[in-house]
Amino acid sequence: MKTIDLRSDTVTLPTREMLEYMISVPLGDDGRAKGSKGEDPTAAEAEAYVAKVFGKEDALYVPSGSMGNMVCVATHCKRGEKAVTAVNMHMYKAEKGIFSPDLCGIVPVCLPHTKGVYDLKELEKTLKGGDIKLVCLENTYNFEGGCVISREDIEKILKLCKQYGAATHMDGARVFNAASALGISVAELTEGVDSVQFCVSKGLSAPIGSFLVGSREFIEKARATRKLMGGQLRQVGLLAGAGMYAVQHLSERVAHDNARARKLAEGIQDAKDISIDLSTVQTNIVKVDLHGALKGKDWLRALEEEAHVRAHYITDDSIRLVTYRGISDEDIDEAIVRIRNFCAAH
Ligand SMILES: *Cc1c(COP(=O)(O)O)cnc(C)c1O
Repeated sequence: MKTIDLRSDTVTLPTREMLEYMISVPLGDDGRAKGSKGEDPTAAEAEAYVAKVFGKEDALYVPSGSMGNMVCVATHCKRGEKAVTAVNMHMYKAEKGIFSPDLCGIVPVCLPHTKGVYDLKELEKTLKGGDIKLVCLENTYNFEGGCVISREDIEKILKLCKQYGAATHMDGARVFNAASALGISVAELTEGVDSVQFCVSKGLSAPIGSFLVGSREFIEKARATRKLMGGQLRQVGLLAGAGMYAVQHLSERVAHDNARARKLAEGIQDAKDISIDLSTVQTNIVKVDLHGALKGKDWLRALEEEAHVRAHYITDDSIRLVTYRGISDEDIDEAIVRIRNFCAAH
């Protein structure tokens, strides 16, 4: 029986066309400066292209989303300065380095939120204190079932940040899924946000990396921060070029991943001893709450052994299913049957 792997969109493999494009591009040493860019012509082209797609002045390639967030936050804030985040935000909960006293030493101020949108009264109260340097957002919100923060909510947050002089950073690891769900462009979605990090290594199907976008001045500083963190790369056009190819050719297809996740969620939501908050299933992530005797890791192990479906652990009481380019409509139909039968048997 074929295994259906729904753990994460990070398992997405590059297309043959992308691989062929990668070996065709001109390369150079991106660690050697040529004006404000490096000597790698493809990296420079990719960064200019990505900046244009986001309607920002400039962009920078980084080896991972985690480094991208770290470079951005450490460019906005110095050690000891405060950034607003949340206890289940990916940066705070999963990456940790930004807020680790031993590494970047940015001081986290964790605020309550509803599906990624901060409680505006709490946010204003906190910003009024006057010493908040940065407010972080995550869109889509990974640990809230991939839900989307709307443009209207972003504007309310931006207005407060402007009023009190705080900068804004968006962890947009899956920002194309968010824009697709909202039916707007990534440029419209992120307008006015000072820095954005997005992954090309997830649903966009590139093998490695992320881009940062922001003002010319911010990206110039971020380039220096990236170097401090050991993220300056050499013939990086190979990877940045794949990222550009991904944005050009594979960013619109994430709409299929969003639709397939929705179909999967609707197909299994009334299976025995599980529940899904369908209101959070807006993009390519399905968070499933477990109510039976089998808990987290044991449930996952049994699902893989008996149903040949792989999923990802969130807590003992919840797991995650993620769609991506390697998952077809037929895989979704098959996964629904297998998961329902599995639930019924336990
Ligand atoms: C995957 C992810 C990241 C980090 O990306 P890596 O490339 O795995 O370091 C950051 N934020 C969110 C929300 C993510 O889902």
